[in-house]
Amino acid sequence: MLHSDRFDPRLKVIHADMDAFFAAVEVLDDPSLSGKPLVIGHPGPRGVVSTASYEARQFGVHSAMPSTEALRRCPEAIWRSPRGKRYGEVSRIIMEVFREFTPTIEPLSVDEAFLDISGSLKLFHGALAIGEGVRRRVHEATGGLTVSIGIAPNKFLAKLASDLDKPDGMTVVDPDGIQELLDPLPVKKIWGVGPRMTEALHQIGLKTIQDLRKGGVDLLQRRFGENSAHRLWNLAHGRDERGFGDRSPAKSISTENTFSKDISRGPASDRFLRNSAEEIAESLRREGWRTRTLRLKVRISSFETFTRSKTLETPIQDAATLYQTGREMLRDVDLKGEGIRLLGLGAAGLVSADEPVQNSLFSDESVPIRDEKVTRLIDQAMTETGSPLLKRGSVVTPPPETSRGGRRAATADEEEELRRSTSSEDSQRKDRKP
Ligand SMILES: [Mg+2]
Repeated sequence: MLHSDRFDPRLKVIHADMDAFFAAVEVLDDPSLSGKPLVIGHPGPRGVVSTASYEARQFGVHSAMPSTEALRRCPEAIWRSPRGKRYGEVSRIIMEVFREFTPTIEPLSVDEAFLDISGSLKLFHGALAIGEGVRRRVHEATGGLTVSIGIAPNKFLAKLASDLDKPDGMTVVDPDGIQELLDPLPVKKIWGVGPRMTEALHQIGLKTIQDLRKGGVDLLQRRFGENSAHRLWNLAHGRDERGFGDRSPAKSISTENTFSKDISRGPASDRFLRNSAEEIAESLRREGWRTRTLRLKVRISSFETFTRSKTLETPIQDAATLYQTGREMLRDVDLKGEGIRLLGLGAAGLVSADEPVQNSLFSDESVPIRDEKVTRLIDQAMTETGSPLLKRGSVVTPPPETSRGGRRAATADEEEELRRSTSSEDSQRKDRKP
């Protein structure tokens, strides 16, 4: 099923994913932490685990877990606050290493990337040699960090594979044994299938990928609609057509924060949205994107979570429009009189900034941060103080068409979940101090 020693030109995608990245960097910088249960995050009552070392995972601690639960499961754990700037430094090192093996890489988050190795196979004598090379070079260049590697015919399978033998592992998917590999896996292993979609699939009796395949595409179509059904169907057969360098809307950038105390809609939420907008805008400019679709995520005190998205007529890149739109979306959410526990702002539907566009939607409104120079200064200041890391990911396919100039991508919850970006465990959440 998983083959280990064969040159095969069909093996053209590598997914490289650092192991317990934030925790591993802390251990690298402070070897006295080695071998100890280590948790990156804030241990306060509202904190969330950002990353757990493998030692802490043995106690059942994992990322995105409330800190209180982590403390209960592993009282002896050592806690460290995330150091975004340092992780960013190491991230740049590993991305450079990936580029030693191919010019075409696609970072998914600070600690993972896809590598298109189709053009490097000959030079490096096959995919396995490249995988081994990446492992060795990451270790050397970082001074001791480990990475897990998945090698496969496409992105979905490569990402799946990198997770099969963590930490410090390498898994090669046999192009002739894809179905055997996929069939026994639970449906949640399909890219983009989150908890809500998993539950919906369980409700119609589909627990494994094999169940899903045997259930047929019609069943999926009745339950989830045509687009989602076909995505699920293709992925369940190991088919994933996404390419590289396709600068289509297949990317997203977002920020998210759980507040140490619930905030209310007003100056505090404005401040968060403004900071997020600036972070996202900075990232869009740096990487040459504009965004067409903005997303807002709100969790209120009772843990109920809302997501909103808005598609703009014109792709934008400026913090002012991001901020204004985020604010409008938040204004339209019924908070039921409760406080805001978590707030997230994201940009999806990214298009190349090289494409000519008209002025942004809010060109007639004066917002102080619109001026490019000012924005650049803010970016600089943020870089110097160590800006919190952005979460980013790739969506399974471009978002569904919304009417030109449409207001809202009115999609079913499951559809939203399938489309929503996924990102590495390490960077799934940020828990910044307010
Ligand atoms: Mg990772």
